[in-house]
Amino acid sequence: MSREPSVEIAGPLGRPPRTRRAATLRALAALAPLVAEAATRSVDVIVSALVLLLCSPFLALVGLSARLRGRSALRRERVLGRFQKPFHLLGFSGAGPLCGLPMFWNVLVGDMALVGPRPLALEERDAVPVAAMERFSVRPGLTSTYRLGAGVGIYSGEEFESDREYYYEESLKSDLGVLARSVANRALSGSSTAGTAVGRFQIFGVEIANLSMEEAVDWIVERARASRTSRLAFVNPDCLNLAYRNPEYRGALRDCDLVLPDGIGVHLACRMLGTRLLANTNGTDLFPLLCERAALETVPLYFLGAREGIAQGAAEAMQKRYPGLPIVGTQHGYFPEAEEAAVVDAVADAEPKVVLVAFGAPRQDTWIADRIDRLPAGVAMGVGGLFDYYSGRIERAPRWVREVGMEWAWRVLQEPGRLWRRYLVGNPLFLWRVWMQTLGRGPGACNV
Ligand code: UDP
Repeated sequence: MSREPSVEIAGPLGRPPRTRRAATLRALAALAPLVAEAATRSVDVIVSALVLLLCSPFLALVGLSARLRGRSALRRERVLGRFQKPFHLLGFSGAGPLCGLPMFWNVLVGDMALVGPRPLALEERDAVPVAAMERFSVRPGLTSTYRLGAGVGIYSGEEFESDREYYYEESLKSDLGVLARSVANRALSGSSTAGTAVGRFQIFGVEIANLSMEEAVDWIVERARASRTSRLAFVNPDCLNLAYRNPEYRGALRDCDLVLPDGIGVHLACRMLGTRLLANTNGTDLFPLLCERAALETVPLYFLGAREGIAQGAAEAMQKRYPGLPIVGTQHGYFPEAEEAAVVDAVADAEPKVVLVAFGAPRQDTWIADRIDRLPAGVAMGVGGLFDYYSGRIERAPRWVREVGMEWAWRVLQEPGRLWRRYLVGNPLFLWRVWMQTLGRGPGACNV
C-alpha cells in the first residue's frame, strides 16, 4: 500500500510542493458532488421559475375561475420527499395535460427536482426495499428515465432498481437529456394520465384491449396452457388503416381473442377517443418478456416467418439471452404455396404452445384465421417484423427515439422506398379516420 511521504518535496520553481497539490486536488474532488448538485439545483430553479412566469396568465385564470366557482383549483397530495420528509405535491384538479403545472412550484421551493425518482405516497414507504432506501437521499423528480420508458412501453426492469442512477450516477447532462425527451414525449403524445382507462375500446370496429405489459404476458402464458387455440394480434395505425378498407382482415381481427395496441399512433387515437392507454403493448417490446416467462415456465415456442435464417437467428439470440428457452421449431416465411400444408403439419408436429407468425399484416392474421383448426392448442399470434430486429438484421430505433414516440420515423429512414407511404400518408389518414369515428362516421363509429 502506498503512503503519503511525510516530508514535503519541493516542486519546480513557482509551484506548490507535491503534497499540497495532492491535498488541493483531493479537496476539489470532495467538492465536485456539491458543485454538481448546486449546478443541477440552479437549473431546476431557473427552469421552474421560467415555466411559472410564462404560464402565470394561465395560472391566474385558472385560480380566478376556481374562486368564482367557490372551489379550490389546487389538489394537494401528501408524498415523501428528500430524507423521507413529507410535502404537499401540487396539481390542478382533473386530468388535463396541464394538470401537473403547479408541480413546478414544488421544484422552485426545493421539494422536488425536475428529474429524479417518483415521489412516493406515504403508504408506499414500506414497499421500498432496503437496498433502495438511498432513493430518499435525492429530491424526487417530475420525470425520470423509468417513467419515460414505462410510459411508452419500454421496460427497463424494476422501478426502484432503475432509480439508482439518481443517487449514484446523477449528472446534469443526463438529467437535461431526460428532461428534453420528456418534454418531446409530452408534446407528441400528450399526458399519460388524461382520460379514463377503459378495459377495451374500438377503432374502426376492431375491439382493442387496454392492458399493462404484465397483464398481456400473463394472458399469453395462461392461454398457452388451454386446450383450444387462442388468437392474438397487434395493431398499429397501418393495420387499422388496412382493416378500415379490407373487411376480410377486419373480420380476422374481430374474431381474435385479444387485440393489443401497437405504437404512438394508437396512443394518439386513444387520446382523441378520451381513453387512457395503460401501455404500449406492442409485440416487439412484449417479445423478450414473453421469452423470459417461457424460459422460466417451460412454454414451448415456434418462430414462423421472415426471410431465410432470420427466425433461426432470432431463436438463437433469445436462447442466449434466456438459457433454457424452449423453441421447438423455426421456419422462414417465403415458402411456395405447394409447401403450405407441410409447413402447417411441421408446426403442429413440433407441439409448440405459442406460435409466433411473422408474415406482416394483413397476411399473418388472415393466415392464422384460415388455419386455426390445424394449428396446435395454445396461442397463435401475428408479430410483424420482430424476428428481423432480434436476429440483428434490422437495427431497432435507439431508446431515445422510441421514448419520444418517433420509432416510425426511424423505420421510414431505414426503408424509405417501402415505408414512406405507410407512415407519411398512413399516419395522418389514420388520425383523420379516428376523428371521423368520434363524429360518428366510418366503420365501428363508436367509442367504447
Ligand atoms: N414476410 C414473410 N413472408 C412474406 C412477406 C413478409 O415472412 O411473404 C416477413 C418479412 O420478412 C418481415 C415480416 O414478414 O420479417 C413483416 O415485415 P413488416 O416490416 O411488413 O412488418 P411490420 O413489423 O411492419 O408489421
